[in-house]
Amino acid sequence: MSEDRLIVFDTTLRDGEQSPGASMNLAEKLEIAHALADLGVDVIEAGFPIASPGDFEAVQAIAQEVEGPVICGLARCNPDDIDRAWEAVRDSARPRIHVFLATSAIHREFKLKMDKGEIVRRAVEGVQRARGYCDNIEFSPEDAARTELDFLAEVVERAIEAGATTVNIPDTVGYAMPSQYAAAIRHLKQTVRGIGNVVISVHCHDDLGLAVANSLAALTEGARQVECTINGLGERAGNCALEEIVMAVRTRGDYFGLKTGINTRRLYPTSRLVSRVTGIGVQRNKAIVGQNAFAHEAGIHQDGMLKERTTYEIMNPEEVGLPRTELVLGKHSGRHALRQRVRDLGYHLDDAQLQRVFEGFKALADRKKNIYDADIEALAEAQIHEGPALWTLESFHSSAGTGTMPTAGVCLRHADGHKAQDAACGDGPVDAVFKTIERITGVTVHVRDYQVRSVTVGEDAQGEASIEAEHNGRIFRGRAVSTDILEASAMAFVEAINRTALRRQPRLNPQAETVAAT
Ligand SMILES: [Zn+2]
Repeated sequence: MSEDRLIVFDTTLRDGEQSPGASMNLAEKLEIAHALADLGVDVIEAGFPIASPGDFEAVQAIAQEVEGPVICGLARCNPDDIDRAWEAVRDSARPRIHVFLATSAIHREFKLKMDKGEIVRRAVEGVQRARGYCDNIEFSPEDAARTELDFLAEVVERAIEAGATTVNIPDTVGYAMPSQYAAAIRHLKQTVRGIGNVVISVHCHDDLGLAVANSLAALTEGARQVECTINGLGERAGNCALEEIVMAVRTRGDYFGLKTGINTRRLYPTSRLVSRVTGIGVQRNKAIVGQNAFAHEAGIHQDGMLKERTTYEIMNPEEVGLPRTELVLGKHSGRHALRQRVRDLGYHLDDAQLQRVFEGFKALADRKKNIYDADIEALAEAQIHEGPALWTLESFHSSAGTGTMPTAGVCLRHADGHKAQDAACGDGPVDAVFKTIERITGVTVHVRDYQVRSVTVGEDAQGEASIEAEHNGRIFRGRAVSTDILEASAMAFVEAINRTALRRQPRLNPQAETVAAT
């Protein structure tokens, strides 16, 4: 690969999925993996195969199905992890194993209880074992940014000798400063034997809001792979945001002199897809993909924009795939137009799913005049959510009013076909519906957040309900759309309950969950 080519390594499905409440089912992960391939990322880190049977299955399905990018699986430096990672990625045309081991003093002493010599030995053995399976191996010294520079250089050099083809320098805890992080990359480039023959990668977290800045600083010192996630999703404050790093490199090509393989027009649709699938919204003023990123309100700016766009705009909104208009379809729109729109929005549905979206679209068009992108997204999303639906809402009614006791009756259908119904009182109509659903499913949750907003405009707009619920110390989200906000609330609540059932799958290696944090 040429010197000016930046490799984009997306870890939305691994590091991104580690953010609280972002867990996805198999169908959702596949959908996102296909969207990432369309976006043009070079590497997809599809998951951490040893963590659970579900993680393994998802990485394997992506390796078998998604063509184009390198498909990568994460592993700690031990034989079981590495063997399992290889099993998961081996069906890909371009597999990669990513092994990691912490190197900082604090991790050596408190987490691993190993001395420097032991760390080097384990790293070398891990890389060699992985290299026995395939020739595309990435090695990460976890918490590299807090590791003594001399020791970091030693570990990296030994990993390269052992066969690593990419060496990643993670700022696992988001502690680095741009100039200091750049200096660490420079030091490695100057002192490590063989580093000229491998790709230097960066992986930054955003705890101090510096993930993108740190990554960019490293690029000026010769790093040529950047690890990032859509919308900056990830542990705690998240990872380096893919859309920000890509547009910084593109908009400031004069400064960086680098190119990526990203089709930037897919940035906005992919951001929307990830936000809808995970239920984690994008803040309004978020760079590149936020709702206000290209909005001009101040009169003086608007005046300047009308005379010459570039007075206040450094990027063209169409370049990142922002739709020019949201209004797309009406009652008389045909199947073909709908299919095209679903694709443009980033969904990969099969014919049966498209047919169901089309039927939903026709039913919706009877209830409201104009159908917007957000309406289509809600219909398409319902198709890929289908996997884990243990319970579905069959029917409900709820009554409330001044001087009456709010009550609800709900009927749910279980995946095994049986129907169950019950009734309960509550503080209000929504509370009564939620309490009834808890009685039927036997799952009690603590609702931490509940919001209803309109997805589009106009009095006939659909309402979107989103719920964040806590169950056994974990966060689960649910989201649903309907022209009836009570129905949307009930469906969102059922979805959150279904997700708690999904999480009860046994994990092969419970420890892995807390350890994976490169
Ligand atoms: Zn990370």
